[in-house]
This record gives sequence, C-alpha cells and structure tokens, in this order.
Amino acid sequence: MVDRENDEEESQIEECTICGGDIIVDSYCEEDDIVYCNDCEAEYLIRSTDPIRLKRLDDEDVDDAEDSYDEEDE
Ligand SMILES: [Zn+2]
Repeated sequence: MVDRENDEEESQIEECTICGGDIIVDSYCEEDDIVYCNDCEAEYLIRSTDPIRLKRLDDEDVDDAEDSYDEEDE
C-alpha cells in the first residue's frame, strides 16, 4: 500500500521582509498568486516561482525605491 501522495506537496518558506515571519508558498502556488505572512499578514505577490520571488503588496508609500522603470523609449 503506497500512501505517499503528500510527499508531492512541498511548501517553501519565505521570510517576511517586515517582521521576519514565515510566508508559506505552497507547491501549487503560481506566479501572480497572493500569499500572506503568517505573523503580520502582509500580502505578497508571487513574481516568480523558480526561484521564488515575492513582492510586497502593502507598499503604502509607493516611491520608486525599488525599481524605477520610467524610461519609455524603444
Ligand atoms: Zn510579516
């Protein structure tokens, strides 16, 4: 009797940039899904799943500290 279906479900743990808590990224999560910090419930958008990259959604002041893509030349 083989009963190891659960082995397929590997969750990744990412660290919250706000409180250092755990953010569970389940194996079935995809890009553009929303995940939450276990501790402070901050929202994160999954920008990439391999490797996992999260972007915080709670940016209250949206200053271009991160990336500034203001150039629109082609
Ligand atoms: Zn947190």
